[in-house]
Amino acid sequence: LTPGLAVVLVGEDPASQIYVRNKGEQSKAAGMHSVTHRLPAETSEAELLALVKTLNADPAIHGILVQLPVPKHINDQTIIAALDPDKDVDGLHVINAGRLANGLPALTACTPLGSMILLKETLGDLTGKRAVVVGRSVLVGRPIAQLLLRADCTVTIAHSKTENLKAVCQEADILVAAVGRPGMIRGSWIKEGATVIDVGINRVPFSDPVAAAAGKTKVVGDVKFKEASRRAAFITPVPNGVGPMTIACLLQNTITAARRIAGLE
Ligand code: NDP
Repeated sequence: LTPGLAVVLVGEDPASQIYVRNKGEQSKAAGMHSVTHRLPAETSEAELLALVKTLNADPAIHGILVQLPVPKHINDQTIIAALDPDKDVDGLHVINAGRLANGLPALTACTPLGSMILLKETLGDLTGKRAVVVGRSVLVGRPIAQLLLRADCTVTIAHSKTENLKAVCQEADILVAAVGRPGMIRGSWIKEGATVIDVGINRVPFSDPVAAAAGKTKVVGDVKFKEASRRAAFITPVPNGVGPMTIACLLQNTITAARRIAGLE
């Protein structure tokens, strides 16, 4: 059985192009059947739906990932709803989100899965720990919170309307930042000895004014790393923290999907 992964990219978003290239290369390197569909930005919703339908029916494909965001004229929810839930390796279909929420086996979003592997390998049993997740997106915040709950943590989900976010974060034994705001979480927000998972990926200008004027940029997380690492027991860097785990878990999900479809669970 050769697990097959199809990645679909619509348009030319530069970050998405890098993600899609990495996913294609790494799935091939792992020995998978790997297919990348690059469609022009003007692709219609009907054309994308037709491709999803073809991939749903293709027995050589076990995982389908439509890289988000898609261009504005395409409704991403319509596309996600059209995916065969058994091939939804991004864990975005409501069937998978519902199964996760109900504690049933589900294909689960890759970044949350990767974050949980880091937490469990670092801390072992998470039972009873106070976990705060900042961010409530369907792709990251919500599924991480569900996984932490499943691991018997006491979970708080914070978001843009949360009052006194600093005090909420200060209660966390495990703090997950999935916001998309560079350096928003300061060192003083971290409880001494906490474990910090920084999911944020933010491109910002270089601090050196000459480099910044030349248009040079760098990637930083949602957490002020230097400040936070003085108080945290463990903290993931950005880049090269959670990011590589995301692709590893995409490959893992593709294997899981292939085994389930083949009746090998
Ligand atoms: P979204 O924009 O979908 O969600 C951001 C969340 O942050 C929302 O729930 C929002 O609250 C909350 N938020 C925004 N501003 C504040 C604030 N001032 N205080 C508290 N909460 C706030 O982003 P994603 O979840 O998709 O991604 C989050 C980050 O993770 C991004 O930087 C993204 O690039 C990165 N990412 C990294 C991945 C990886 O592989 N490492 C994979 C996917 C994403 P509200 O709901 O109230 O608007």
